Amino acid sequence: MNATISDSRVVDKVLDGERITAEDAKELYGLPLNQLGQLADHRRQRAKSEAFQGRGSEIVTYIVDRNINYTNVCNVYCKFCAFYRTERDADHYVLSHEDIDRKIDELVSIGGIQILMQGGHHPKLGIDYYLDLLNHIREKYPQVNIHAFSPPEFNHFAEVFRMPLREVILRFKEAGLGSIPGGGGEILVDQVRNRIAPLKCNTEQWLEVMRTAHDLGLNSSATMMFGHVEAVEDRIEHLARLRQLQDQTRGFTAFICWTFQPGNVVLKATPAGSAEYLRTQALSRIYLDNFENVQSSWVTQGPRIGQIALRYGANDFGSVMMEENVVSSAGTSFRITCDEIELLIAEAGFEPRTRNNWYELVD
Ligand code: SF4
Repeated sequence: MNATISDSRVVDKVLDGERITAEDAKELYGLPLNQLGQLADHRRQRAKSEAFQGRGSEIVTYIVDRNINYTNVCNVYCKFCAFYRTERDADHYVLSHEDIDRKIDELVSIGGIQILMQGGHHPKLGIDYYLDLLNHIREKYPQVNIHAFSPPEFNHFAEVFRMPLREVILRFKEAGLGSIPGGGGEILVDQVRNRIAPLKCNTEQWLEVMRTAHDLGLNSSATMMFGHVEAVEDRIEHLARLRQLQDQTRGFTAFICWTFQPGNVVLKATPAGSAEYLRTQALSRIYLDNFENVQSSWVTQGPRIGQIALRYGANDFGSVMMEENVVSSAGTSFRITCDEIELLIAEAGFEPRTRNNWYELVD
């Protein structure tokens, strides 16, 4: 650790691996960026020191997977979303099995092992659509993990199917669902959620999906979308809710944060810049002491900031992401190949390795 790092009780707590409080987090957030980064890097090394035969802190992982957005029809109208359409829009769609197969064939041809499948809250698709789709994918591509349906989608399913949430998740699991993405978390503070997505599930509902999924043996990731109407205190509250649930279930495999993308959306807010992104990710790594993995977000920040984020608490470069529709609808579009990811990781001083959804090395 750099000898110039500021000397304080909170810094000592971080260096000693102690859990920090919300007040500590606020103090840390005010540190010079490079010092906060060093502390997050220290916590990353601690979190990963046991992994991969003691070489964990030198390894940065990524996964070869593909986003599939099965429908863009949605009746939630989030103010930060440029992706959704109504059934009256000419470019609304629901993907057929053939469309989805084509996408998975492309993924498999480059060695991909997972699909990240999410969609809008389609008011008319019944449970058979989803169970047929899951069964179809599982039977045709048994080697591909189906990482799908965020907590707001599950809340929507329970309502539309008129079925208890637990039963929906169980039926989906039995049909082939392998794990759950942490989308739709945004900021887990209802006051904030009501301003940016008033029709979406609330904080407790989001957490309840994750609690139930973990209880049923499904792992999930956790996310945070920040840099819009929230205060730093709201981000810390969000992290507190995640840490609390992780203490109970240990079901989260990773945390990913990204910044609000302002293009083509109703919400008017000055988006966070790269420094604020790095600062927030670093703080998240320190606060979430029970999360082993933190992904950098090159998709919203670009490959170079994604690379720098590896020294601000991240130990994973996310996904190759052959296809991305949601962030690109909001005006941000970066693309990189496996070779480019490996080069970016190596340039940052780490060994690039590929992983599966459970962060086991697969190469
Ligand atoms: S973010 Fe999701 S739930 Fe919200 S409008 Fe977009 S597609 Fe619908």
